[in-house]
Amino acid sequence: MKEYFCSDPKTFKVLVFDFDETLYYSPDIREYYIRYIKNTILKLSNLSESEADSLMEEVGFTMENKASPSFSSSCGRFGIEKSAWDNYRIDNFFEINYKNAESIDNSVLLNLSKSYPLYIVTNEAYKNILIKAERLGIDVTVFKKIFAPSSEALRSGNVKTKKERYTEIINSEHISPSEILVIGDRVKVDVDPMLELGGNGLIITRPYEIEEFVKQNLL
Ligand SMILES: [Mg+2]
Repeated sequence: MKEYFCSDPKTFKVLVFDFDETLYYSPDIREYYIRYIKNTILKLSNLSESEADSLMEEVGFTMENKASPSFSSSCGRFGIEKSAWDNYRIDNFFEINYKNAESIDNSVLLNLSKSYPLYIVTNEAYKNILIKAERLGIDVTVFKKIFAPSSEALRSGNVKTKKERYTEIINSEHISPSEILVIGDRVKVDVDPMLELGGNGLIITRPYEIEEFVKQNLL
């Protein structure tokens, strides 16, 4: 767990969560993810399998590199247009081994929602978030709003950035940026855009770390 705070957690008023690999974790997630990215590259690019392997290693999609870049920002390296990737991922999304997955404790979320407006901000398609949440047993009804691109937005290349979504939340909740916290698993994707706005970030690797943080600092 790593904190990127500019203010005391006691002053936090709004909580934002990433979804993938934040509200759930499974032990073989890395293996599944690497396989998923490789299948995607073989489907959408003209690369041979060995070309795909070596380029994946170069870009950082390896078992060892847990901080691999987002595929959205690196698909061009594989000769794949972002629009082709956005279109593909609507119906071919990254699925995990749901059987051994750990999910966030719904009662912790429910308790939190009584004191804080909770949001999800994700780059995953909205419909896929609902499918995954159901399979993982995560109760998304406690969230005030889920900001996730619609299939139409993905098809038309009209996807808002996390920074734009964070700004919308800060404005609609009438809070100062220092009163918002985002919890996610990637510094670049989840936390950096919030820090740029003057907000706070928390990086976790397992959902139980969220529960620990919440019990010690927020509830
Ligand atoms: Mg994530």
